[in-house]
Amino acid sequence: MHRRDLARLVTAAAAATALPRWSWSATLRQRDLFALGVASGAPRPDGFVLWTRLIDGPVPGTVPADAPRGRLPEALTVRWEVAEDDGFRRIVRTGQAPALAALGHAVHVEVAGLMPGRWYFYRFMHGDAATPPARTRTAPAAGAMPDRLRFAFASCQRWEQGLYAGYRHMSGEDLDLVLFLGDYIYEYAMPAKPPKHALARTHSLPAAQTLADYRDRYALYRTDPHLQAAHRACPWIVTWDDHEVQNDYAGLSGSGAADAFLARRAAGYQAFYENMPLRSSVLAHGLAGLGTHDALRIHGGHAWGRLLRLHLLDTRQYRDRQACRTPGGKLQGALSPRDCPELADPARSMLGMAQERWLGQGLAQDAAPQGVQWSVLAQQTIFAQRNYRPSPEESYHASTWDGYPAARQRLLDAVRDTAPRNTVLLGGDIHQNYVCRVLADFSKPRSAVIGSEFCGTSISSASNVPQARVEEIARLNPHVLLARSDRRGYAVAEVTPARWTTTLRVLDDVMREDSGISTLARFVVEDGRAGPQPA
Ligand code: FE
Ligand code: CA
Repeated sequence: MHRRDLARLVTAAAAATALPRWSWSATLRQRDLFALGVASGAPRPDGFVLWTRLIDGPVPGTVPADAPRGRLPEALTVRWEVAEDDGFRRIVRTGQAPALAALGHAVHVEVAGLMPGRWYFYRFMHGDAATPPARTRTAPAAGAMPDRLRFAFASCQRWEQGLYAGYRHMSGEDLDLVLFLGDYIYEYAMPAKPPKHALARTHSLPAAQTLADYRDRYALYRTDPHLQAAHRACPWIVTWDDHEVQNDYAGLSGSGAADAFLARRAAGYQAFYENMPLRSSVLAHGLAGLGTHDALRIHGGHAWGRLLRLHLLDTRQYRDRQACRTPGGKLQGALSPRDCPELADPARSMLGMAQERWLGQGLAQDAAPQGVQWSVLAQQTIFAQRNYRPSPEESYHASTWDGYPAARQRLLDAVRDTAPRNTVLLGGDIHQNYVCRVLADFSKPRSAVIGSEFCGTSISSASNVPQARVEEIARLNPHVLLARSDRRGYAVAEVTPARWTTTLRVLDDVMREDSGISTLARFVVEDGRAGPQPA
C-alpha cells in the first residue's frame, strides 16, 4: 500500500467514534478473537491510545508451520469502553472502532477529553467476548508538579532465550508507566544448530522478511500471559531498536541487497505501528528530506507535568552506517580509531541532523524558566564511552554511541550548553546493566559530570560477554560505576522533585516462569547534583 493511502487509513481508523460506512461489518458471534490481549500507551494530560488486535484460530508460531491458519473478514468492528471503575459502572467514554485486514486487524483508539493525572479502566468487546478490565492513566496537567512518577524501563525480550517472569513481577510494581527501549521482537528463525545457550522455548516461524512474517512474530510474542499482564497494568511508551527489522541495521543500510532490505524495513515498520499503542500521527509526519516512503516518526516528547520530560529518541532509523562497514555487509565488532579514521568523521550522525536539532530545542525548553525538573533522554543503547583496551591502543564498539563519537560529543555539548536542571540517560540493547557518570567529554576523564546514565539489562535476551570481561571494561573506564552482564530483568525509576532513584531488578533464573526476583543495586541522583550515587 502507498504510504499516503496507509496514513489516511490509519488516521481514519484511529479516530475513535465516527466510523465511515465502508468499515461497517458483521460480527463474528461466539468467537473470542482477543487472544493477543490489549495495551495502552502514549499518555497525555487528556487521553491515551488503546490497542488490541483480533486473531482467529491458533496463533502462528505456536503450532507447526504447516498448520491451517484462521481467516478473518476484511473488516470487523469492535466496541470499547473507558470507565472510572473496573466494574464499568461509571463509563466516561465509549465507541466503536474498525479492525481492518489492511492493518493486520489491529485496533488503535485515540481517546481524548479525559481528566489529567487520573487512572481509568478500559475494555474491548466483540460479539459475546470482552477483554478483562485493563488499567491505564492520563499524564498530569501541563503546568502541574506531581509528587512522584514511578516507571519501569525494559528492553530485549528474545522469545526463545528466556521466559517473561520479569513481566510477572513488573505487573506488581505499582507503576505509572512502562518505557520499552527496543528489541520487542527478534526477527530470527530458530537456530539451525544447537545454540550455546539453553533455550527456554521454541517457535515455528521462519526468519521475518515480509509484512505477514512480522505480524506473525508480534502475535507470537503477544501470546505470553505475563507480557499481556504488564500491558494491562499501565500505559507503555515504546521505541524500537534493530531487531524490529534486522540485526544491526543502520538507517537505510542493512545486510544483503539494498532493495530487499528497504522492503523488509518497510514491512517491519508497518508491523511495529500495527502492534504498538502508538498515535496515528507517527505515520503522518515523516521527517522532511529523508526521501523514503516508509518512515515512522517514533521520536517525540512525553511530559509528566513539570516533573519530567522524556525525550524518546530513535537511534536506528536515521543513523549513518557503522564506520568501516561495507554496504550490504555485516557489522565488524570493535573498531580502533587508528585503523578506522571514518569513526571520527563529524558528518556521521546517530540521530540524523533533523532529530539532533529537535532534541536541542527540547533541551532548551526544559532549561527555560517554568521548564522541567528532570530531562530524560530515553534511547536504545549505551551512551557512555567503553574503551575496550588499555591506552594508548583504543578500541570501541562500532554500533553503540562509541561508534558515533562526534555525534555523542554534539549531544554532550548541547546538554552542557543548554544546561537542563537534571539530565538522565536511559538505554538498553547490550543486555547488560551499566550505571555511569556522563562526562562533558569522555576523552578527558577529569571533565565535569553533566548527567547520569542507566543502561538496563534485557528481559530475556542472552549476553555473550562473561562477567569477568565486563569487570575489566569497568576498570578501564572509571566513569562506569556498575557493570553486570550476568543477570536479566528490568529497572524501576522513582522520580520526585528532589530525587531520582533507580532500582535494578534481576531474576533468579530467566529459564523459569516462577523465578523469584531481587534487587541487584540501587542508585540515586539528587536534584542539582549530576551523577548516580549508590543508595
Ligand atoms: Fe537486544
Ligand atoms: Ca539491539
